[in-house]
Amino acid sequence: MKERGLLIVLSGPSGVGKGTVRKEIFSQEDTKFHYSISVTTRKPRTGEVDGIDYFFKSRTEFESMIEQERLLEWAEFVGNYYGTPVDYVEKTLSEGKDVFLEIEVQGALQVRKAFPEGLFIFLMPPSLDELKNRIVTRGTESAEVIENRLQAAKEEILLMDAYDYVVENDQVQLACDRIKAIVTAEHCRRERV
Ligand code: 5GP
Repeated sequence: MKERGLLIVLSGPSGVGKGTVRKEIFSQEDTKFHYSISVTTRKPRTGEVDGIDYFFKSRTEFESMIEQERLLEWAEFVGNYYGTPVDYVEKTLSEGKDVFLEIEVQGALQVRKAFPEGLFIFLMPPSLDELKNRIVTRGTESAEVIENRLQAAKEEILLMDAYDYVVENDQVQLACDRIKAIVTAEHCRRERV
């Protein structure tokens, strides 16, 4: 029987740069992981494509996916639902391929329960000041929302002990290299028997 693939979960506080790091990883030709496209009720941003960036759904459609247990995990984040379709993850892992999720921390904790054997990587900002800088320069949030996000980030950082690895996102390229090195090492560790 074919060995199951590895479930890789990249998570971390809002604003740390998870999306940027994930996009850089998947722009590299030698990347062998398979990205699990999430479902969301958020409106597409300019340039985002349905079925590539996300599967964009209405709240009713999303709620029926929850009811039908078609999501491995889901969370409500800043007023929108986000979730991971379970079918794709199961099918891809059973084909012996590695699946990569990039999700916020509540969802990652749910996946930890369903897949304790997964590989959980926490992306860490170089400092809280730097995190604030990144949220501010994104320019989309009011002062109040920035404060709320920073407070949430402080609480989220306390959860990093639930992860297997902590990777600092001081530079995107370095963070990608570290994540890929961790996955390679993890395969060597698990496949030695
Ligand atoms: P954005 O709206 O900026 O694309 O994503 C907002 C947050 O939702 C990010 O922290 C991103 O990692 C997270 N996210 C994206 N897809 C999922 C998912 O399927 N499940 C969960 N729990 N979070 C997700």
